Amino acid sequence: MSLPNRILLALVVGAAFGMLSQGLAGSHPALNWIVANVTEPFGRMWLAALIMVVIPLILSTLSTGVAALGNLREVGRLGALSLLCFVCLTAASSTLGITAMNVVQPGGSLSASVKEELMATYGSELRQAGELGSRSLWPEMVVKLIPKNPVQAAASGDMLAVIVFSLFLGVGMAVAGEKAQALAAFLEALAQTTVAIIGLVMRAAPFGVFSLIFSVSARFGWRLLLSLSSFVVTVVLALAAFQFVVYPLVVKLFARRSPLDFFRRIRLVMITAFSTSSSNATLPTTMRVAQDELGISREVAGFVLPLGATLNMNGTALFEGATVLFLAQVFGVPLPLKAQVLVVLLAVVTAIGTAGVPGGSIPLLMMVLATVGVPPEGIAVVLGVDRLLDMCRTTLNVTGDLVTAAIVERLSWSRFES
Ligand code: ASP
Repeated sequence: MSLPNRILLALVVGAAFGMLSQGLAGSHPALNWIVANVTEPFGRMWLAALIMVVIPLILSTLSTGVAALGNLREVGRLGALSLLCFVCLTAASSTLGITAMNVVQPGGSLSASVKEELMATYGSELRQAGELGSRSLWPEMVVKLIPKNPVQAAASGDMLAVIVFSLFLGVGMAVAGEKAQALAAFLEALAQTTVAIIGLVMRAAPFGVFSLIFSVSARFGWRLLLSLSSFVVTVVLALAAFQFVVYPLVVKLFARRSPLDFFRRIRLVMITAFSTSSSNATLPTTMRVAQDELGISREVAGFVLPLGATLNMNGTALFEGATVLFLAQVFGVPLPLKAQVLVVLLAVVTAIGTAGVPGGSIPLLMMVLATVGVPPEGIAVVLGVDRLLDMCRTTLNVTGDLVTAAIVERLSWSRFES
């Protein structure tokens, strides 16, 4: 059986076992023990092994990718093209999320007791998220983009700062030319080595995926999902529509590829994103699949995908738009059209600032809620079901990166040919 199929099997079996154990054993201490001491630690180790290579991967592929482009104009052109794709896809997805909530209106029916129970359970997580969410976009977050100390930025996992440093490194190598050859060779070797490590880690993917999915489904089961079912179903359907209707159209029209073939080739990426809920943890797989399966050049993959994993979050923007509208309905805050347009804009900007980790969008979502006058603590209402939604939206986030890479690849080659 091929690796993607084995991982898919692990996903299905893990979810089924998890749900079943939840249904049969509920809060039995033995089940809790297994989750806390066996499956969760193993899942976390596998995730950590993937995340471990992300910084060296970004540093080496982005810098050598930029250096290979040769001149600043080419870097600027690819950068502008990628950003244009990112912004258009993100604005479209958050508009879809908002529209879906306006049509279905699931917010009115939530009972007060469910709200209270959720607020009580998730209060402490909220305080932590609130601290992060209180950072202002301008000037704080923008100034922080340029790392004073790149080593510290890497050590604290500040992806945007690492990206900026890698871009500078690539431009520097291009400018230095011959004199930077040793450094370029070193970074090239680093890139190859990280790819080899990823191959090894992915061999354990069926076990990692099984552990992650089993832990989530055994802990949460169906109970919470049911109480918020109309919200969850609306968001999941909107995400599915974007994934299986909008992306295929974009792939067909702008990347000139067969959507079916495209989706068949990227299934390993979708499964990895779904089970890890992290664009960063999926990045190594995304890079490999882009080059090996989609035949995207190293320059384009190395440039677009690290940027996309950090800046392009279509699923997150859809979720943000939908959640703001849903919570406004729950708390009876009227959001006129003007406010909804503001939500789309904020969703685009905050999706850019979202870290590609599980639940990365929650702090920024609280900021958006506060900006449009919906009580940010209300997010506790959706936190209970966030993991499931996170798995789905992360799948869109990375699919959007690959769609963009395919478009940029096609436009770059048609330009080279002409
Ligand atoms: N988990 C998402 C990602 O990594 C971010 C989020 O929406 O929370 O892409």
